[in-house]
Amino acid sequence: MWIMFTKNRYESEELRILKALNKRMDLPDKEKQYFSNLQKGFEGELMFDGYLQRIVIQSYILNDLLFEHNHSHFQIDSLMISQYLTYLFEVKNFEGEYYFDGDTFKKINGNEVKNPLLQLERNVSLLRQFFISIGFKTPIEAYLVFVNPDFTLYQAPLNSRIILPTNLNRFIHQMNNQKSTLNIQHSRLSEKLLSSHLTKSPFTKILPYEYAQLRKGVFCHSCGTVMEEYHGREIICKSCAVKENTKNAMLSCVKEFNVLYPQEKLSTNIIYEWCGGLFPKKTIRQVMKENFIISGYGQWSYYE
Ligand SMILES: [Zn+2]
Repeated sequence: MWIMFTKNRYESEELRILKALNKRMDLPDKEKQYFSNLQKGFEGELMFDGYLQRIVIQSYILNDLLFEHNHSHFQIDSLMISQYLTYLFEVKNFEGEYYFDGDTFKKINGNEVKNPLLQLERNVSLLRQFFISIGFKTPIEAYLVFVNPDFTLYQAPLNSRIILPTNLNRFIHQMNNQKSTLNIQHSRLSEKLLSSHLTKSPFTKILPYEYAQLRKGVFCHSCGTVMEEYHGREIICKSCAVKENTKNAMLSCVKEFNVLYPQEKLSTNIIYEWCGGLFPKKTIRQVMKENFIISGYGQWSYYE
């Protein structure tokens, strides 16, 4: 086994922000839909990662990349560098019945959806140009992967670039039957790609949110209700009786604050308020002291 995952996949900043906001405000329908699409997309990518983990030939796998070439940004779900080829995978977690109608892509009810094949073409063309600009000539093979087992595609165009859920196992098997021996050139390519990856996405479009408008409190991870019962080491949800460890609940609450307000300093008072007054300040100080560094002094101290 030689496969190397050189770049892991994480929830995007945008997804983490929307996740935190979703609990603390009523997202407008448009944002809710967008949030659910992001979440679904991410789950689909994780599903596909599971398949790629079964690759046994020598290869580098880079996940979730963002590049800019000639003022165009493009995102790549998964990239796999093998001896002769670089594979580009565009992963879609669509569910339900779809069909291609000429150049358009539609749901069975006729609603048009952004054509993922066009997106794939755009990305592969930009990636090719990008490879040339950084001095690499390896050919690229691009695939559109539908990972959801509940996805059906009618009238699939005779396009070998589309991998359907039922073909995924066979595809991985075929990949594993190839020969691949990597050399220093491949590792240079991988490094070059990693160093060109952009961390700030220009696609991020988060609605404005204000601290005063956000619901404060600790929310039950199981039913979403505000937790009201504090019992020292654990807190209990009144509506579904789920118990949560105080420390974990507080830290995940603090993490959410950090995601929404990365510039703000974390003080005991802020955390107290953010958690809806559920935890005594003494407990907050204790937990925070164990997990953060205290800066400043007395009432001006904050956690880093
Ligand atoms: Zn609950």
